[in-house]
Amino acid sequence: MELVDREVPEISRPDEVLLKMASVGVCGSDIHYYKKGKIGSQVVAYPFAVGHEGAGIVEAVGASVRNLKPGDRVAIDPAMPCYECDQCRAGRFHTCRNLRFLGCPGQAEGCLSEYIVMPAKSCFPLRDNITLDQAALSEPLAIGVYAIHLSVLQKGARIGILGAGPIGISVLLPALAYGAEKVYVTDKIDARLALAKEMGAGWTGNPDKTDIVEDILKEEPGNLDMVFECCGQQEAADQAIRLLKPGGKLMVIGIPEFSRWSFDSDEMRRKEICVQNVRRQNEVVDITLNMISEGKIQPDRMQTHNFEFDRVKEAFDLVAGYKDGVMKAMIHF
Ligand SMILES: [Zn+2]
Ligand SMILES: [Zn+2]
Repeated sequence: MELVDREVPEISRPDEVLLKMASVGVCGSDIHYYKKGKIGSQVVAYPFAVGHEGAGIVEAVGASVRNLKPGDRVAIDPAMPCYECDQCRAGRFHTCRNLRFLGCPGQAEGCLSEYIVMPAKSCFPLRDNITLDQAALSEPLAIGVYAIHLSVLQKGARIGILGAGPIGISVLLPALAYGAEKVYVTDKIDARLALAKEMGAGWTGNPDKTDIVEDILKEEPGNLDMVFECCGQQEAADQAIRLLKPGGKLMVIGIPEFSRWSFDSDEMRRKEICVQNVRRQNEVVDITLNMISEGKIQPDRMQTHNFEFDRVKEAFDLVAGYKDGVMKAMIHF
C-alpha cells in the first residue's frame, strides 16, 4: 500500500458533486482487498483506491444539483445505483443490476483519497449535531439498521448476535433502539465482548472458552427469536440453528471465506427456520443519520483508533491483525 499523487478528479456530469474527504473508516472488506487482492470473484487491478465508509465536505456541485452546495458536510452512501433497471424500479437499489459501489474493483475507486466525485443523490447532508466521524460510522450502522428492519424485529425480542466486530455492533445498537429486550453477543475476542457489553449487550460469551449454546439456552429455555450471523463462520451458523426457537429467523450478514453454508436440515425443518440474507443496506442512510442525531444510536465507542491519512498503512495493518482491541479505525484528512 502506498500514497500516490493524482490529479483532483473533475465533475463530468451535471448531477455530480466534488467532495473533499474528511473521515474514512477502515472496513473488513477493504482489508480483504489489502491482504488477498480480491473478494471472491472481484479482483483488484493495481493501483486501486479502496474505502467506502466516508464523510466529507462539498467542494463544488454540478449544474443540476439542488440539494447540496459548497461547504455542506455530507455522509456518503457508497452505492451508486442506475435508478433505471427492474431492481431500481422495484425500490431495490442495493441489488441494482448496474450498481457501482465505492472501492469495488471494476465498479468505482474508493474514497481513501483527498478528493472524490460522487452523484449528488449518494450524498446526505448532515445535521449540525452530527460529526463527520459519526457520518462515516453511519455506513456500517446503516447495514445494521437495514438488517433490523428486514428481520421485522418486535419489541421485547430476545436475540443473538454471533460476531461482535463492527457489523455485529452495528446490529446491536439499532436492535436495542428498536426495543430488543435482551441481546446475547458472542465473539472469540474478549475485548470485543467487553465493548459489546458496554454498548448494551445483555450477555456475552466466547465460543473458544464456553459452550455458548448451552450457556444461552440455560438463560433462555424457550430459545431465541432471531439470530444475526455477523462473522461468516460455519460454526456460528450451526450455533444459530440450535439457538433459534421454532419459527425463528436466521439473518445472515457475515461474509464467509468459504463458498457454501451447510445447515442441519432436520432441525431447520422441524423448527421451520427462516433464513434471510442481508445485502448491505437499502434506503436507510437518512434513518440511520436521524437516529444518531436524536441519540437513539450512540456509535462513538466503536471508533477505537484514529490515524492521519499518511499513516493509512498502519491503520490497515492494525485492523488486519486485530491488534490493540481495534474495532473501527478512522482515517482523517
Ligand atoms: Zn464496509
Ligand atoms: Zn438499477
